[in-house]
Amino acid sequence: MTKQTSLLKDYREKRNFTVTGEPEGSVQHRSSKKNLLYVFQKHQASHLHYDFRLEWGGVLLSWAVPKGPSLDTSVKRLAEPVEDHPLEYAGFEGVIPEGEYGAGTVMLWDLGTWTPDEPNVEASLKAGELKFKLNGEKLRGAWVLIRSGSEDHGSKKPQWLLIKRKDRYASTDDVLAERPRSVASDRLLTDIARDFNGDVAKAAKGDPD
Ligand code: MN
Repeated sequence: MTKQTSLLKDYREKRNFTVTGEPEGSVQHRSSKKNLLYVFQKHQASHLHYDFRLEWGGVLLSWAVPKGPSLDTSVKRLAEPVEDHPLEYAGFEGVIPEGEYGAGTVMLWDLGTWTPDEPNVEASLKAGELKFKLNGEKLRGAWVLIRSGSEDHGSKKPQWLLIKRKDRYASTDDVLAERPRSVASDRLLTDIARDFNGDVAKAAKGDPD
């Protein structure tokens, strides 16, 4: 999450848009706050991880979740803040070429909308607790992002935890293993890598055996 003055600056500085197929994108202040985008991308880069993104303030606030989400309310998943992404990123599925930032295969693992419990999202993030509802294909209901430790860690990056809250969508089912395919194309990572001339063997590391 970056300051207003540098919206998407970090995102653009990391990428060469003449090489990667990722969108250059733009900051889009949409008038409606009713249909805020939510996306979870599965990303087989040097390490498999999941990228959690929530539309806010014209961009997608983003966190890398190494182990992905869990529907189990007793499981806390580390969520590391990363640079804001453009809204167009919620439509990106494909391959980031070798040598580029985040090289590897990206899948649209889940997609939908989200609603903050409290309207002042900036205040919630500053306070270190953001409660919200997800309305995706795979993830639904009440969730929370909680910052572990204070906002000012000095040189250390703040860490957040993504946790399912109790409701009828909570479960001990392993949603990552049971629903490994793209919500946009029904493809596995290997299918996407093959279709975009990516590294199929590398992508296979992120697919179920
Ligand atoms: Mn990523």
